[in-house]
Amino acid sequence: MNTAEPKYRITGKSIGLGLTAIALVVLLLAAFNLDLPSIALILVLVTLPLGMIVFGYSSYLGLPIGIKNDGVWTRSLSNRGLSAWIIGVGLTTFYVLLYWFPEILGQGADGAKNYGLIGFFDPLSYAIKGSPASQWFVYGTLYSIAILGLGIKFIFKYRHNRYQFWRTVSVIIAQLVLAYFIPEILEGMNQDKPYFAKDLKYFFPLNYYFFEDWHLNNMMASESGTLGMFYFLWGLVGFLVVTPFLTYFVGKRWYCSWVCGCGGLAETAGDSFRQLSDKSLRSWKLERWLIHGVLAYILIVTGVVLYGYFANSYNFMGLDIYTYFRKPYAFVIGAAFSGVIGVGFYPLLGNRVWCRFGCPMAAYMGIFQRFKSRFRITTNGGQCISCGNCSTYCEQGIDVRWYAQRGQNVIRASCVGCGICSAVCPRGVLKLENGPEEGRINENPIIIGNDGIRLKN
Ligand code: SF4
Ligand code: SF4
Repeated sequence: MNTAEPKYRITGKSIGLGLTAIALVVLLLAAFNLDLPSIALILVLVTLPLGMIVFGYSSYLGLPIGIKNDGVWTRSLSNRGLSAWIIGVGLTTFYVLLYWFPEILGQGADGAKNYGLIGFFDPLSYAIKGSPASQWFVYGTLYSIAILGLGIKFIFKYRHNRYQFWRTVSVIIAQLVLAYFIPEILEGMNQDKPYFAKDLKYFFPLNYYFFEDWHLNNMMASESGTLGMFYFLWGLVGFLVVTPFLTYFVGKRWYCSWVCGCGGLAETAGDSFRQLSDKSLRSWKLERWLIHGVLAYILIVTGVVLYGYFANSYNFMGLDIYTYFRKPYAFVIGAAFSGVIGVGFYPLLGNRVWCRFGCPMAAYMGIFQRFKSRFRITTNGGQCISCGNCSTYCEQGIDVRWYAQRGQNVIRASCVGCGICSAVCPRGVLKLENGPEEGRINENPIIIGNDGIRLKN
């Protein structure tokens, strides 16, 4: 078989990489504080997403629709080779600077003028919200571009599958509109008012500071008016009503795979790394302890914080609430786990490390999904040829094949409903469905083994 790539595909991919490289070089020059004209910013905003789109389009140009996962274990990038390590170290370093050393990225201290990378984004920030950029504005801009550009690449790749198309359109819009433009524009329109989170889908417990005294006070301050009160009520309703309600009807996929920013980045920028998730029983055990431990941790911290709020005290049992409760959670979970490990380690541990092992929102929804939901993945066991594609590409480390071979529904708290197991199955065995709770957990599977095919019992 001739496996050489046609020239048009190589040319297209080279153009895409070239455009992306131009943007990255300009960003690097800006980071080294080179004085660049404003046109350089426009160049980055155009060439960065365009390069990703051209690369994505060219990668699948001329190929038949369907599964394209050949070579994942032989390429350096997708099998923890040198390029994966370089990207992993680069991303991790960026996150460390972003969270703890923003001045190295160019954040002006105490209202001083920005410089370097952050100063480079000042004109865009002024255009959107009328104030200078911050490290979070720069991060949000690059994050949104990554989801847009690599999301379109993802659509080209899985264009045979309508579910993948629509949920990717959804995560792109959710990121650009709900997480980026609306919050930034609202921020710009309310600069004289106290700050509170304005991402409409950033619910507690993912938004771990929602119930902190400063955040509650800022939302309910008279200067915040109806906008503050709206966000306060929406935050409560989102956590207590919307999340359980939707998870009951469609599983946690409505959030993890359709609107969440962390999930959005994992599904698009992290698509090349989904096969790296650990499928061992040991990691399943670790996952259950860790993710529910983080949920318990944030509930305890929030309980203490609310005690301090209502008791008008900074102490809980003699311990300073900020030092012993809020700060450690923000450092260990909010920054180190979700950012540095969660994204920085994509090329080494897979794209859903945070969603699988650490996200308290995923844990909260997972409890509903496991015990009180209409969602399940049904399996037509008789059709399964045990190829293992589904297990390999399950980013949550679920051994889907084990269920498929037994004809058993996949009901797992950790399943984010990405649908990739179904998309890569060559036999159409797997189907994501919502249906009656009755009979959802079926422990009466078909066994396909050495002694032929038989029904258990
Ligand atoms: S079981 Fe399927 S739908 Fe669920 S997380 Fe794994 S690949 Fe995605
Ligand atoms: S369910 Fe499909 S992808 Fe999974 S092992 Fe069976 S045939 Fe392969």
